[in-house]
Amino acid sequence: MTTETTTATDLTTFENLLAAITAPEGQGVQMKDPATGAVVGYAPQRTEADLDAAIATARQAQRAWGAKSHAERSAYLNRAADAVEAAAEALAELLSREQGKPLNGLNARFEVGACAGWLRANARFEIEPQVLVDDESGKAVLEYVPVGVVGAIGPWNWPMMISIWQIAPSLRMGNTVVLKPSEYTPLSVLGLAAVLNQVLPEGVLQVLAGDGALGAALTAHEGVDKLMFTGSTQTGQAIMRSAADTLKRLTLELGGNDAGIVLPDADPEAIAEGVFWGAFINTGQTCAALKRLYVHESQYDQMCEALVDVAKKMPMGVGTDEENVLGPLQNKAQFDIVSSLVEEARAGGARILTGGDPDEDQPGYFYPVTLVADIDNDNPLVAQEQFGPALPIVKYTDLDQVIDWANGLEVGLGSSVWGTDLDEARAVAARLEAGTTWINKHGAVDPRVPFGGVKKSGYGLEFGLEGLKSVALPKVTSW
Ligand code: NAD
Repeated sequence: MTTETTTATDLTTFENLLAAITAPEGQGVQMKDPATGAVVGYAPQRTEADLDAAIATARQAQRAWGAKSHAERSAYLNRAADAVEAAAEALAELLSREQGKPLNGLNARFEVGACAGWLRANARFEIEPQVLVDDESGKAVLEYVPVGVVGAIGPWNWPMMISIWQIAPSLRMGNTVVLKPSEYTPLSVLGLAAVLNQVLPEGVLQVLAGDGALGAALTAHEGVDKLMFTGSTQTGQAIMRSAADTLKRLTLELGGNDAGIVLPDADPEAIAEGVFWGAFINTGQTCAALKRLYVHESQYDQMCEALVDVAKKMPMGVGTDEENVLGPLQNKAQFDIVSSLVEEARAGGARILTGGDPDEDQPGYFYPVTLVADIDNDNPLVAQEQFGPALPIVKYTDLDQVIDWANGLEVGLGSSVWGTDLDEARAVAARLEAGTTWINKHGAVDPRVPFGGVKKSGYGLEFGLEGLKSVALPKVTSW
């Protein structure tokens, strides 16, 4: 287990960073750039025996790490943020090549910057013991103590940022972390961990690349006390079942299918760019992206036109070309899901305003930005999570009806309301079933603001003080 803990090499260049994490050519799983098909590197594959060893190391390391003060651990997180910033360009290039997302826009450089930002924010939070009772009957104090070893499992869409969402609060609260990244983006997470491990004590953070079976082994492992999972609802359900035997604490951030409601008093031109990026951030491969847009009939045509105008201005292409702000789908399976949902919508009579015609001669999994109008609420492109650059735009006439539509699915991660009258927008927001409802924006996350889903989008919260508490155990002392 040595590849993740490089200390001597300068990891601020892409070549050095890659060399520190990749297996020798031909060994490990070949990772390819989804934009070009070029080989990026080889992900070392870990076994269950490696997992046992890593968890034993994590348990051992947790004693000293958990015994450190909050101030000491926060200092480590700040140094880790410095290391991320020093290696930012190398990390962004690695992420762009493996995940496919462009360097610019709300993509690779943004993601790496957010990693540093989340580390610093988690270092800053104050979590003091709470005196609950202090009177003639006695005293009771509530504190948050480490859970122990946190197992973390992540997806492929924001591999570095979501890993940091799991790592930063866990470490801050005195836990050690064993993380299994997605099999689609292991190098990105190994690269991030190599940079973090330049400053973290040995054994505090370990990343083991492997497939779903290794994730299942981590989930079931007796040596893991808490599991943080971000991924699909289906896998979340499998994890919950498997975690029952050891009664692990769980945080589950699962799939969504976020609705956005454009109210009659909204100004389509003014909101078009915000709606566009709410839907197409990371080329639509974002859990809390706007995935169903409901527009009042009085604004419908204008909104459609304004979105088409924005879409035409946004360059899509190879991630490492500086001008691009949209990239490919990360993998063939996701490309096929998006294509088939758009084709089903077309066959059902929906109108394709732009896109829907991938260039079959172009290498890579590029699917053009696709806006689909005149589509029914029960069409699969509306009812299922497309997780790609295709947005259905549904017309509505009645507010109660559209709120029913927005709440009509089994998931509830995010949602948004767009309008000029804030009181009216807030009244609608209050009726939406989602962990977060944004007004006149969508998907904007903030390390200070708790984030999580309701219904089948999962449970538990990340970020902010609530996020810290969710990777700790409440401990009451009373005398
Ligand atoms: P996925 O569920 O297919 O895979 C996620 C991870 O789980 C991978 O690392 C995979 O190897 C692992 N895994 C697979 N089977 C497992 C098992 N039986 N036990 C344990 N681990 C197992 O999800 P994905 O396709 O990588 O990600 C896309 C999904 O993630 C979308 O539904 C998206 O909405 C969701 N997502 C949610 C959030 C959020 O914060 N709520 C964020 C990003 C993505």
